[in-house]
Amino acid sequence: MATNTDFRPNSGFCGICVRVMKWVPVLFILCVVIWSYYVYVVQLCILTVEPYFEKIVYLLIYHVLFVIFMWSYWQTIFTPLGLVPKKFKLPNDEIEKLRRASTEHSRRMVIEAFAQNLTIYNRTENGGFRYCDKCQHIKPDRAHHCSVCGVCVLKMDHHCPWVNNCVSFTNYKFFVLFLGYSFLYCLFIVLTTLHYFILSWKHLQGEFEGSGRLHIIFLFFVAVMFAISLVCLFCYHCYLVSHNRSTLETFRAPIFMTGPDKNGFSLGKYNNFREVFGDQKSLWFLPIFSRYLFTSTFFSYLKVLKWYILYWIII
Ligand SMILES: [Zn+2]
Ligand SMILES: [Zn+2]
Repeated sequence: MATNTDFRPNSGFCGICVRVMKWVPVLFILCVVIWSYYVYVVQLCILTVEPYFEKIVYLLIYHVLFVIFMWSYWQTIFTPLGLVPKKFKLPNDEIEKLRRASTEHSRRMVIEAFAQNLTIYNRTENGGFRYCDKCQHIKPDRAHHCSVCGVCVLKMDHHCPWVNNCVSFTNYKFFVLFLGYSFLYCLFIVLTTLHYFILSWKHLQGEFEGSGRLHIIFLFFVAVMFAISLVCLFCYHCYLVSHNRSTLETFRAPIFMTGPDKNGFSLGKYNNFREVFGDQKSLWFLPIFSRYLFTSTFFSYLKVLKWYILYWIII
């Protein structure tokens, strides 16, 4: 039986088609990446580059960038959404009261009576608590309803079709790393194919011939195009991280009891960075979630283990 929150086209043929179509941009990106891998590794490094040392260095750096870039992409896509905790959800009797409320004032009274014990700073334009009619819960600070995912998402930044996921509290770090590493990946391709691109441009076909030549020329153009768009997006998100602001909050400043304040969540540049990337410096640039308690606990166990092993070696 369908519930009130079951409003997405999840079932039936249409639902399946919609879900399949949402993966098309991700499949497109994957096809481009697989093609770029083939051209760079096979056509450029194996068949074109002649100096052995250059070949090995290119392949080594390329694979490091490739692995970390794909790892970040994977984490951005498959990290589950941060959903609103159950304590924000209105019980059935409160929902019934809300349904019976005939005026906006009585409706607001029901919501305020329930939300008074919750720690919430964000307000609506009228100064009331933010309530999602679709999910039937009070919205925590920075949570927004995503019409594509069909749920309220914690610290929602935006819904990204290229990762078929909401960029939000749980995967924002991975998304920023994905932008940074994919830019480095494209930049590396541009710099290392530039020489061969110029050779082909000057019609020096003796250097390398056939379809591989066209592949490399095309790879150069594609990498330049992606690098330009990625660096713009990456710089924009670095700016957002440094100001502790989401994309949605840039377009519409969050409202507090005192009124709208676009810098309302800013804790200073370093703390803003730590809020996204965590306290563990060793994990800052790895696509591993570094804000859960278990992560720091795990690493403190590792530190203890390290001293324990050293102790036994010395003994
Ligand atoms: Zn919602
Ligand atoms: Zn979404």
